[in-house]
Order: sequence, then structure tokens, then C-alpha cells
Amino acid sequence: MAFQTPRHKGPHSVGLAIKHLQTLRRRDFLTGGALIDGQWVPGRERDLVIDPATGEQIADVARCGAAEMDMAIAAAERSFPTWRELPPRRRGAILRSWASLVLEHAEELAILVTSEQGKPLAEARQEIAYGAGFLEWFAAEGERAYGETIPSHKPGSLLQVRMQPIGLAAAITPWNFPVAMITRKAGAALAAGCPVIVKPAPETPLCALALARLAEQAGLPPGVFQVLVGNPVELSTPLLNDPRVRALSFTGSTPVGRLLLEGAAGNVKKVSLELGGHAPFIVFDDVDLEKAVEGAMAAKFATSGQDCLAANRIYVQKRVYSGFVDRFATAVAQLRVGHGLDPTTDIGPMTKLSVANKCMSHIDDAVTKGARVDSAKQGADLGPNFVPPTLLSDVTEEMLIAREETFGPVAAVLPFDSEEEVISRANASEMGLAGYVYTDSLRRALRLSEQIECGMLGINTASFTGPPIPFGGWKQSGLGREGSRHGLAEYMELKYVCFGDLTA
Ligand code: NAD
Repeated sequence: MAFQTPRHKGPHSVGLAIKHLQTLRRRDFLTGGALIDGQWVPGRERDLVIDPATGEQIADVARCGAAEMDMAIAAAERSFPTWRELPPRRRGAILRSWASLVLEHAEELAILVTSEQGKPLAEARQEIAYGAGFLEWFAAEGERAYGETIPSHKPGSLLQVRMQPIGLAAAITPWNFPVAMITRKAGAALAAGCPVIVKPAPETPLCALALARLAEQAGLPPGVFQVLVGNPVELSTPLLNDPRVRALSFTGSTPVGRLLLEGAAGNVKKVSLELGGHAPFIVFDDVDLEKAVEGAMAAKFATSGQDCLAANRIYVQKRVYSGFVDRFATAVAQLRVGHGLDPTTDIGPMTKLSVANKCMSHIDDAVTKGARVDSAKQGADLGPNFVPPTLLSDVTEEMLIAREETFGPVAAVLPFDSEEEVISRANASEMGLAGYVYTDSLRRALRLSEQIECGMLGINTASFTGPPIPFGGWKQSGLGREGSRHGLAEYMELKYVCFGDLTA
């Protein structure tokens, strides 16, 4: 597997991740085996885990391939009848105990997140709480997989609809939320009665394997929850080709989502996809600019910008445009860039060099085409994965940043005149994951809530995710939903049963 070679090490942070990892009480979080059929498999070869801030090797993990994945599928198949038959309350008890263990080990898991993903430790701690929340929520929701009784159109008959577990589930997860994206998928699948096989991103295997240690401790039986790390194509091919795998849930880029959708077509799996975003963030001239800037900062710079909900196009109405840009620039200039384990850090490194390079290309393209740069240049000298938090104003639709997801700490601000115009510009995208609207007018908020084409919309707020909400997008941002009762349904099949001839 190709990992980036360090070209530059942030001088102040060399050894920081290793020092923190040495403090972990749970040494087994670092042993890096794969969990297959209740066994910890060391792997024939090992893959390196890299601190994205410094390029240093911080651990190594078992590399699995197609043979190990076949074993995992067979083990999941064997575990399915018993897991499915367990009453939902008993499945829920195991999920709750897994959640408790995650919270008990929150600090150690947060250190793993920051060490391999790069986000500031305070955000990593939030992710652990967020991730445990899905296990707790689905533990309860599994008991509410109610069916229906339909008033019959056929005399002397009883019509029922049941929800039954779909079968084996596969989860292919990204590196930006290496804990929560696993619990959001696995919590739903397990609560529904389905065994799940997780293929985490190769950049962030330690979090996945630590979750597996805790899952095992919580009492998840062999084969019910398995984690295999390795080459994405080698591991996903058996998952796609095996007809016993009935559900596939993926979070990541739209091109890979398309490939997986095509691959799953061969045996018509149920596919849920959470793909890229390109969220519009619309600021009308009737709002309190301080609140709008606070919202834009949160919506753009959380997770160092590596968030599918990130505000990628910030449209500001012309009357307040320069006031907004001035305040926004002041706030952006105060962001501190550094190693995520340094408590003063607001913006960490990009997890992947390719993401940092994409950010820099968006900045260069925008500047070449006439955008103004309104931010400090700090961070550029820390290493190749660091991107200075940047505010680009006077952005136009010709610039790349207005047309595709950046996935980094680069904010693009575009002026607009009218409501009608901004709705049309906001909707002129193949993506439709999230959107944000800031306005003091209730009527306008209602109109926009109807007209913006996206799966999730925040009105006067930048914070709206959590276990009870249906997370997912329109258009090429995805298929299906995660979280909420809709997320549980992704792992269930409906069965209609007609009891006929009931008349005595
Ligand atoms: P990616 O889609 O390549 O990776 C996501 C997951 O898919 C990882 O587990 C990866 O190993 C796996 N994967 C990659 N290629 C695969 C293949 N051919 N078959 C099976 N699995 C495969 O994403 P990336 O390259 O790491 O990031 C690129 C862009 O994707 C980002 O800049 C961002 O736009 C988007 N992204 C979105 C999210 C999100 O939360 N929606 C998360 C990560 C990345």
C-alpha cells in the first residue's frame, strides 16, 4: 500500500503522537490485528500508520486480502441466524455496553483519532461522544422496528407488513470521522439483526481496530462485528461479488461511490451511499452578521474543513457583503494551525496529501481568476499536509472552488443580489448533501426550506447532526439515510404477509 513519504516534519511536533500513544493504558489498541470470526489475525504483511502532521510512522497493522475477506464473510454468515434471533432488547444491551466502553475509553480513542487522522484533540473528543451516541440510539431503536397491519381489501384476510433483517452488511468507511462513521453504520446494522464487516480507510485503521477490541469486550459474538484493513479494491471485491452480502453502506467520494454502486448491481445489493457535499451557506442582509460569521466559521472550519457538511460556497447578499467579509477575515486570521495534539491548535493537517494538494489548487485557480485572498499565511511551513486557513472573496462560478468540494480549510465567499438568484445558484450543483440559510425573515426561511435542493438544511444554525436525524443527500451526494429510523430501515427488508381464508 502506498503511504506518503514525509517530505517535511513539523519541527515542534515530531514525536508528539508517539509520546501520547505511549500513555495508552490499552496497549491492545496498538497491536493492529484484524478481527475475523472472533480471532485477532496478525496478517501476512503489515501496513504502516502515519501521523499526517509529521509523516512519522506511529504503528503498523495487519494487511488483509481477499482470502481473509472470504473467511470473514463465511463467519458472518454463520453468526447471522443466532444474532437475528436474539430479541432486540438483548442486542440493544450489547450495543449499550459497547457504547459505555467507548465512553470509558474516550480519551484514549480521541488520542488515536488525532494521531492518525490529524484533527484537534478537542474535536476528536467530540467525535467519540458523537460516535457512542449512535450505538446508544440504535440500541433503543432496534426495539421499534415496527411493522404494519393493513386494513384488508380482501374479505376474510389479514394483511401484515414485517421488517426483517436483510442479512450480511458491509461498511466501507472514510478517514475524516474514523470512529463515528463506523458506529453510525454498525450501530444500525447490528440493531437490525445483521452481522457487519467493516473495511475502514487505510489512513485510519487504529480507531477501527480499537472499536473492534471494545465490541468484543462488550460481548458481540464472533463473526457479528469484524474489521479488516488492507487494499480497498482487494477487500471490497469479495464484498461486492458475494451474493450473501446483502447490504453495502459507503461513505466517501462520489467517484468511488459510483464504482461501488456499479459493483453492487451484479447481485442487486441494497446500497446506501453518503458521498461528497458542496454545501451552499446563504447569508441574507437582514441577519446579525456576528451570528452569521460564527455559523460560517463552524460550518467551514470544523474538522479542519474535511467534512462533507462543510460550507463550500458562502453566498452573502451585497448590502452586507463587505461587512461580512471583514469580520470573517478577522476570525479566520485567528485560527491557529498545528499538530492536533497541541492544545492550542484549531486547524490540523489534512489527513491525505492529495486533499492538501486539492486545496492548494483551488486557491491557485481562484487567485488566477481574480479572487481576493483575505487571510494569514500561517501553517504553510509546517509540512506538506498543512493548508493555511484561507478566505477567498469575490469568488465567481468560473472558479473550481465554486464548482467542486474542497474538503479543507479554504472558504469561498460570493456576493449575490436577490433571493431568486441565490436559490438558483445554490441549486446549480450535482451535489445536494447539506445547506445553510441565515435570515431573520420567517417567510423567507420557509420559502428556502422548500426550495433548496439538499438532504439536510440548517436555518440560522451550523449544527444539526446527531443520531436521531436522517443524514444523507440528494442528487449525486448519495442514496439512503444514516441515523434515525430511516437509517435502521437500510438494513431491513419489508415482508408483506397475507393470511387468507380466515372466515370460519
Ligand atoms: P475515497 O472515496 O477514496 O475513500 C473513502 C473510502 O473508500 C476508504 O475506505 C477507501 O479505502 C475506500 N475506497 C477507495 N477506493 C476504493 C475502491 N476502488 N473500492 C472500494 N473502496 C475504495 O475518498 P478519498 O480519496 O480518501 O477522499 C477524496 C475525497 O472524497 C475528499 O476530498 C472528499 O471530497 C471525499 N470524501 C468525502 C467523505 C464524506 O464524509 N462524505 C469522506 C472522505 C472523503
